Amino acid sequence: MIQVPPTVGTALDYLGVERALVLDLMPRVDPDRVRLRVAPVWFTWLWARGIAAVTTPWAVYVHPNTAKRFGGADRDLGLGILMVHELMHVEQLARLGVLAHSIQYLTDYIRGRAKRLGHWEAYRQIRLEVEARAAASLVRSRIERAQPQ
Ligand SMILES: [Zn+2]
Repeated sequence: MIQVPPTVGTALDYLGVERALVLDLMPRVDPDRVRLRVAPVWFTWLWARGIAAVTTPWAVYVHPNTAKRFGGADRDLGLGILMVHELMHVEQLARLGVLAHSIQYLTDYIRGRAKRLGHWEAYRQIRLEVEARAAASLVRSRIERAQPQ
């Protein structure tokens, strides 16, 4: 049985991502109240291939293959950054509400497909994904600046 930390907050601590580097970007989020779960296999059947995690209004679900990385010996910065990305979706859900979030997400995707973009490019151009990637990459640069190798 694959295990993950119970909340995204404990995952951030485990992965060495300081909350101070994250929380100014998402004022509506309390990472200790965001549950983290391993996605059941049937749920991942609904996911496009290559999706590592999905945020719902009640929990962040990580793909079983991604969840295995929590058992790794070394701190996994990429996994920490994934947690930040998903937390940004929690922030968006709190900011917009579930309905408006879903509508914006789907209409952006459909608009991209209507422009004849492929699945991944349409997905990448969803504004809520652009924002989540921007937050994740900003936190990554803050971490790298705080801990020069
Ligand atoms: Zn995303």
